[in-house]
Amino acid sequence: MEAVVPESPRRPLRIAVHGAGVAGPTLAWWLRHHGHEPVLFEKAPALRTGGYVIDFWGTGYDVAERMGLLPAIHAAGFQAEELRVEDADGRRRAAMGLRTFLEVTDGRYTSIQRGELARIVWEACAGIETRFGTSIDALEQRPDGVRVHSAGRAETFDLVVGTDGLHSRIRTLAFGPEEDYLHPLGLHVAAFRARGTSPRDPRRFVVHTRPGRQLGRVACGEDETAFIFIWRDESDPIAVGIGEGDSSDPVATVERVFADMGWEWPAIRELLRAAPEVYLDGVSQIRMERWTRDRVALVGDAAACVSLLAGEGTGLAMTEAYVLAGELSRAPHPEAFAAYEERLRPLLQAKQAAAPSFAGFFAPRTRAGLFARDWAVRLSNLPGLARLFAGASLRDDFDLPDYPSPAPGHPREIAMPHPAPL
Ligand SMILES: Cc1cc2nc3c(=O)[nH]c(=O)nc-3n(C[C@H](O)[C@H](O)[C@H](O)COP(=O)(O)OP(=O)(O)OC[C@H]3O[C@@H](n4cnc5c(N)ncnc54)[C@H](O)[C@@H]3O)c2cc1C
Repeated sequence: MEAVVPESPRRPLRIAVHGAGVAGPTLAWWLRHHGHEPVLFEKAPALRTGGYVIDFWGTGYDVAERMGLLPAIHAAGFQAEELRVEDADGRRRAAMGLRTFLEVTDGRYTSIQRGELARIVWEACAGIETRFGTSIDALEQRPDGVRVHSAGRAETFDLVVGTDGLHSRIRTLAFGPEEDYLHPLGLHVAAFRARGTSPRDPRRFVVHTRPGRQLGRVACGEDETAFIFIWRDESDPIAVGIGEGDSSDPVATVERVFADMGWEWPAIRELLRAAPEVYLDGVSQIRMERWTRDRVALVGDAAACVSLLAGEGTGLAMTEAYVLAGELSRAPHPEAFAAYEERLRPLLQAKQAAAPSFAGFFAPRTRAGLFARDWAVRLSNLPGLARLFAGASLRDDFDLPDYPSPAPGHPREIAMPHPAPL
């Protein structure tokens, strides 16, 4: 490989941002803020707005605030009040008040559909080119740029950033096969949303758990319910290895795993069969020694997926995007990339290390484990314990750095036309 030529931090960089989920548009927004020229690539034909409900807090929340997005996020989100565990007959077994989360974070916590958060961030990127239905097929690192092959044409970017999620293609192209970095945590997850469901129990996560399997629902708005299924791999060994590109039918898989679940399963099965989109994947982390190589960097789940067990993937993805763009505002890319990794590695490593211990909360393996989990849920309502538990798991040991603001007259000051919804 020839020596890499560092560019002046003053020159605007043309940067391919591969994946318009949460990390990608956040990165694009901050890159433009600092005077660079991002181009978003997204393989889906339009913005992906489906998916599951997430909890959003921490440094990612602070980043959203710096982007001026909190009013829109709160308008689209909701304040969850309770996690309720029900038995097979729909009777309450245990419940945990969720207001403690709000108290511990000084109100800086909300639940929101992942797709809504992605939409809000992307809409803030109005004026930035987004190439829907387009992926990078190949890239060649050169001393003065990255030659990118996409949609039958080749072009050169100064840098390429993979924000394309857990099964990142940029990671495979620049760092090698997924198997080298993907660490399955022994669980699978499926999720879908259904309209016209006359949602019940507003602002409550309602779950039914049997050893190794959990099924839950939460009302989203007035006419929609989100459903989530989590199960241990040993509950259904055939399902192990499901991921992007796997030909397994998600509906058939969920039906097989939850066939004797009881509770509300028969009604949920009908909604599942009619669902236009069902998400299904293994619960995994991405662990890498480096997130950058020459002129390519990874951000978000592509770099350091913490998994749903950590519950903060979107916020961390936004934090990583903010820091990478900020570092590129004050140093040429080799130093900026090094600073990005150095600043964030301790935070991401700590989050990844903590996540697996939550598996027993989502899907206890045995009846005894289930019994203990339900007692933990009940005890968490004791004021001191709740603060202790929530405080430890919600805390981010990270101070968001400040980066210099761009000069007046910078493109971010110019009103951009809004793109037509796709
Ligand atoms: C069930 C579940 C529950 C979760 N709960 C929470 C929670 O409570 N709180 C929380 O903060 N996080 C939660 N997470 C994690 C969170 O969703 C992720 O960490 C977050 O979405 C990561 O953002 P990202 O932008 O890196 O990746 P994604 O959101 O996965 O976005 C990647 C984007 O890249 C695109 N893409 C993929 N491949 C290509 C390609 N080849 N070419 C072009 N584009 C491509 C995709 O279409 C997508 O738009 C949960 C995850 C799951 C699965």
